Amino acid sequence: MANTFIMIKPDGVKRAIIGELISRFEEKGYRLIAAKMVTITNELADQHYQEHRNKEYYPGLKEYITSGPVFAMVWAGEDIVEQSRILIGATDPAQAKVGTIRADFGTDKRRNVIHSSDSLENARREINLFFSAL
Ligand code: ADP
Ligand code: MG
Repeated sequence: MANTFIMIKPDGVKRAIIGELISRFEEKGYRLIAAKMVTITNELADQHYQEHRNKEYYPGLKEYITSGPVFAMVWAGEDIVEQSRILIGATDPAQAKVGTIRADFGTDKRRNVIHSSDSLENARREINLFFSAL
């Protein structure tokens, strides 16, 4: 059993698909541990996306991720870190497999609706960043 950090990005919150996305994880049998609406500050964006700060797309990514509230969550389940990456699909919605969240709801490489930690180590780091009491 592991925990991971999943976040519905500003485009997902604005389009009112939080419930639908939560259902996809519940239907897989995963358990919602914690959730909250957060507006990401510039400082939190820099920390969360620390590996991306020098990328050419980072200014656009930062503007997008701070543009409105996100819905931050902790989920638990068997192999959830790997499995939730499969459920959300590839970064670019145009490349994401049919039936994945990003294929169904993503707009482009930046506005891809949802984040999910890519490793156990990053899951721990991101959970601590957003839910310091956990
Ligand atoms: P993922 O979210 O699939 O783990 P990355 O860690 O590579 O993807 O990138 C983090 C986020 O940065 C992406 O989800 C997306 O919002 C944005 N992003 C990544 N690559 C690009 C790009 N080439 N152009 C615009 N935005 C990007
Ligand atoms: Mg990533």
